Amino acid sequence: MRDGDEIFVSAVVPMFNEEESIGELYSELRAALDSTGKTYEIILVDDGSSDSTLDRAIALSEEDDSVVVVQLSRNFGHHPAATCGMEHSRGKVIVLLDADLQNDPADIPALLDKIEAGYDVARCWRQGRKDPLWRTIPSKFVNWLTCWATGVKLHDYGCSLLAMRREVVHRLSRFSERSRHVSGLISWAGGRVCEIEVEHRDRKFGSSKYGFVSLLRLTINLLTGFSTLPLQMVGFVGAVTSLLGFMGALYLVVKRYVYGVDLDGVVIAVAIGFIFVGIHFLALGIMGEYIGRIFTEVQARPYYIVGDVFRGGHSDRANE
Ligand code: UDP
Ligand code: MG
Repeated sequence: MRDGDEIFVSAVVPMFNEEESIGELYSELRAALDSTGKTYEIILVDDGSSDSTLDRAIALSEEDDSVVVVQLSRNFGHHPAATCGMEHSRGKVIVLLDADLQNDPADIPALLDKIEAGYDVARCWRQGRKDPLWRTIPSKFVNWLTCWATGVKLHDYGCSLLAMRREVVHRLSRFSERSRHVSGLISWAGGRVCEIEVEHRDRKFGSSKYGFVSLLRLTINLLTGFSTLPLQMVGFVGAVTSLLGFMGALYLVVKRYVYGVDLDGVVIAVAIGFIFVGIHFLALGIMGEYIGRIFTEVQARPYYIVGDVFRGGHSDRANE
């Protein structure tokens, strides 16, 4: 890639402690991009890794001037790192992929074909997923939830290999929220979206950076970020349960005073009490989620902070 050449595709890879994957990722990615015959850049975003990911990435940028390394000032998370990479990219088409090689970079040309055919976003639908059951089953529910939240029906929102036109990145840059579900927002922003079927591979090196809690966090972000339905449901559930409670109480009063049946009041009261206390806590929790979101939005902290950018093995900061 020479200076002044227009870049057609930017491959963006968020990386957190991926020292073992980075070498193989780079060669597979380069082979795939070379095969397209297009101009390209590879943006490696180091999301505050504590291993040698950053050093290896900088070494790659020294050997290959199509590699740009963006170093975040600390670990911000997968979605902020991906967003940062997209915002630093210059290509007409942006390809997003994970560093773990669970998706084959060889699928990139097919995605680019779809973009050239007129789609704004081309996504992948993983066949034969190589993830444990505790991931794949909730993932079906989350996919359904994302379809519902965005109104765009796709088979596999969880697949992080996708290609999009620059306009989509422009649209995304207008979102200011901090608790983002990037994949959902891409669909929410509209445009023509398609899916291609791809093979899925085992994570060859290292382990998933997503534990149960971070996945739950992402799902809650999705649910509360796209809709206030949970809040409204609380009101609805409250109305229905108090109606049921009232009818139940009426039934007990009639039973006791009209039919003279003796009732074990304590048991009934405790049972009803438990139901209501539970509902109250649930309601508080749901409201807390929204208040938490308001809190982070009001703070308006940056979504990510760039520590440095490396091109040709050199730090941009050193040139300032
Ligand atoms: N990642 C990141 N920051 C984080 C966690 C993950 O940049 O805090 C990167 C990670 O290196 C990988 C991608 O995001 O390239 C997806 O992570 P992972 O493969 O662990 O997730 P999974 O495929 O298990 O959902
Ligand atoms: Mg992965």
